[in-house]
Amino acid sequence: MANGGKILVTGGAGYIGSHTVKLLQSLGLDVIVLDDLSTGRSDRVSCPLIVGSLSDRKLLERIFHEHAIDAVIHFAGSIIVEESVQFPDKYFENNVSNGLNLLDIMVENNVKKIIFSSSAAVYGEPHYVPVDEEHPKKPVNPYGETKWVFEKILRWYAQGHGLSSVSLRYFNAAGASLDASLGEDAPVVTHLISKVLRVAARQEPVVKIFGNDYKTPDGTCLRDYIHVEDLALAHHLALDKLKADSGVFYYNVGTGQGRSVAEVVNTCVEITEKMIPIEYAPRRPGDPAVLVADPTKIKTELGFVTKYSDLETIIRTAWVWHKKLVRH
Ligand code: UDP
Repeated sequence: MANGGKILVTGGAGYIGSHTVKLLQSLGLDVIVLDDLSTGRSDRVSCPLIVGSLSDRKLLERIFHEHAIDAVIHFAGSIIVEESVQFPDKYFENNVSNGLNLLDIMVENNVKKIIFSSSAAVYGEPHYVPVDEEHPKKPVNPYGETKWVFEKILRWYAQGHGLSSVSLRYFNAAGASLDASLGEDAPVVTHLISKVLRVAARQEPVVKIFGNDYKTPDGTCLRDYIHVEDLALAHHLALDKLKADSGVFYYNVGTGQGRSVAEVVNTCVEITEKMIPIEYAPRRPGDPAVLVADPTKIKTELGFVTKYSDLETIIRTAWVWHKKLVRH
């Protein structure tokens, strides 16, 4: 990085964070992680780890005082959509207020670059697909709202404080590292592929398919699954962008390909060679039929190319990781 400074990664002990840290370290970058370990795990991180919360301003002051930080990658946040509907206060506090503490300490210390983990949830119910970055932002749950609010805050901090940012709007992050050292390991499992693999591993009896009467080719929802190692690469490209340019940037991170829930289950059956019982359940509130990215902007502006985001590689890597998790 410019200035030879460090990169502070908040939430670097989590799923996407830990993959990004691993990639940046492999490229020789100097990384430190701040994580409260509420969902992350210390054994996922092999760089200096500071255990603490973004709500602790004194801790933030100490970190920025002790380390020459050049840029921040901000993953830390709460991510469960249903929980956000039940407990919006938790989401606004964690994803917005605590994020403001981070921005303020950055401004005080003249740190002017941040990459922010945003989400396709900022768009809400798509008016058209594939969804490009200019699609209207009408989040349909507090989780998506907090991501959009924070993106807007970043715009005002650019104007008021010269803070440059890249917001990466993730579509469906999935898969595990190719060397099976890292993968999804959340205390509460909600994501489709992890759920299906739990059924394949006999940890749960049946996959519930939320809705099979959508207007899609097989009646189940289409999503844009992106391999977590490809997603990690997007963060590196975003850092390079902020090395070269200042301003406010935002990109979808997806493949442009929609895969259905039924296709995911069938591919899991093929790869695991296990019986995976399914049952059809009612639609999950707020689930759009189709959510697929238009990734043109990140491809053309940042040169982003996915290497591992075909469904087979996603599921194969997730399964190898999952079997390792179950054994431990
Ligand atoms: N889904 C499902 N059963 C599950 C979990 C998810 O049918 O146990 C469906 C969900 O309705 C959505 C898709 O799988 O259509 C992806 O859901 P996930 O929670 O993984 O990600 P989201 O798209 O909500 O971010």
